[in-house]
Order: sequence, then C-alpha cells, then structure tokens
Amino acid sequence: MSSAIELRAVEKWFGDVQVIKGIDLAIEEGEFVIFVGPSGCGKSTLLRMIAGLEEVSRGQVIVGGRDATAEPPSKRGLAMVFQSYALYPHMNVRENMGFSLKTAGRPKAEIAQMVDEAARALRLEEYLDRRPKELSGGQRQRVAIGRSIVRDPTAFLFDEPLSNLDAALRVEMRYEIAKLHQTLDATMIYVTHDQVEAMTLADRIVVLQGGVIEQVGRPRELYERPANLFVAQFIGSPK
Ligand code: ADP
Ligand code: MG
Repeated sequence: MSSAIELRAVEKWFGDVQVIKGIDLAIEEGEFVIFVGPSGCGKSTLLRMIAGLEEVSRGQVIVGGRDATAEPPSKRGLAMVFQSYALYPHMNVRENMGFSLKTAGRPKAEIAQMVDEAARALRLEEYLDRRPKELSGGQRQRVAIGRSIVRDPTAFLFDEPLSNLDAALRVEMRYEIAKLHQTLDATMIYVTHDQVEAMTLADRIVVLQGGVIEQVGRPRELYERPANLFVAQFIGSPK
C-alpha cells in the first residue's frame, strides 16, 4: 500500500537552532493522524513543511508517492484549513467557498456545483447568501473547511482549527470534523496541543516533544502502553 504522505528524515533548522530533529513517518490514505505535543515542540513547523509553507532543511516530503520537497504549496494538492477568522468578510458564504476555484479560472457552472456539494456535506445550504459576520462561530468554521473541500485535495491539513472557539463550540466542531472525515473518507493531518481532541479524533496519534517523535500509535495503544513517562503524563494514562 502506498502512503498518502511520507516524511523521510525531515529536519528543520531556524538559523543554527534545530527545531525538527529527523522525523520519519508514513501516513496512509484516508487516515486521520494527529500531531500532539506541548507548545513549541514543532507541530506547526512540521505541518507547514508538509504543506510547503516552510522550507525543509534536510530530508524529504513525499506526497502521493511523488517527491514534493521542492514543490510550491499549490502543486501539492493539499489543503491547509485555516482558522475561521481567515474568511473574507465582504464575501458571502458562496463566494468565500468558491473563491479559490474562481482565481484558478474554473467555469462558473462547475464552481456552483462544487460549492453546492461542499455546502451539502457541511450542512451550509441555507447560509450560502450570508456574510461571515451573520454566522455563528461553528458555521464560520465550517465555511473555512468548505473553502478547502471544493478543491478536492489529496489531504486536509489542520493547525489547531478549534483553538479560538469556546469550550461548547469546540466539542460541537470536534464532532463535525469527525463526521466530515467519515463523509469524505479523506486523509487528514491535524495539529493540536489538546490531548482530549487527539484521543477522540485520531486514527493514529503522533506525540512530539522537542522536535522528535516520542511515540506513534492508536489512541488506545498510547493510553495502555505509553512508551515513556512523557507520553504517559501527556496522554494522562495511569502509568
Ligand atoms: P508548536 O506548533 O508545536 O507550538 P512551532 O512549530 O510553532 O511549535 O515551533 C517550534 C519551535 O520553532 C519553537 O521553539 C519556535 O519558537 C520555533 N520557531 C517557529 N517558527 C520560527 C521562525 N520562523 N523562526 C525561528 N524560530 C521559529
Ligand atoms: Mg503551533
């Protein structure tokens, strides 16, 4: 089975400070993988290197079996889901969701169809004519996701998409994202520092600390058989 995304000995240096210290990881098609770890451990940097938003210092990023290390973000077929505040305030939901297709020069009818499909998957059909400020936080977050769905990406990349939401909404959106993963059957890589989010959403969790992987495994494996004290304490298992 070929991996959707593979990291081979990936390193990142900012000047002479090394923040990612040789990461090897294969993510399978349709897998929901979560990078979890304390603030500053390198989660965003790793995700941004996969997306192509940050240069890889050493090693390779393979996307769909192709060496994408030197490719610009637009060539990788990946969608980075930004937080909901990145919506265009002057555009309605339909325009927000179709914007990237419009700039890519896709025909109007095709854009309309793809936006309708994404709106259906996200239950946003009734809100297509509204502006972001006329939506709830959860609806806005769904529009932010909808903007990437229309591009039919090979994988979705999320960087703490729920961190700005209040607790109740976070729980609601966690459920939405889980459902979306089922509906789309898409590969998803998701960054969070929230253990509960990781434990409830992930097929596999990658625990990072100081730019290295401490353990990779299914939520239950990490809980029952943490590799070390750090993982045990971070996941909250009774070791
Ligand atoms: P996380 O997302 O896990 O909180 P980051 O990937 O944002 O961590 O950061 C990892 C480390 O790299 C941190 O020590 C951070 O200060 C450092 N870092 C991130 N971006 C830069 C940058 N552009 N220049 C220098 N250091 C950076
Ligand atoms: Mg981060």
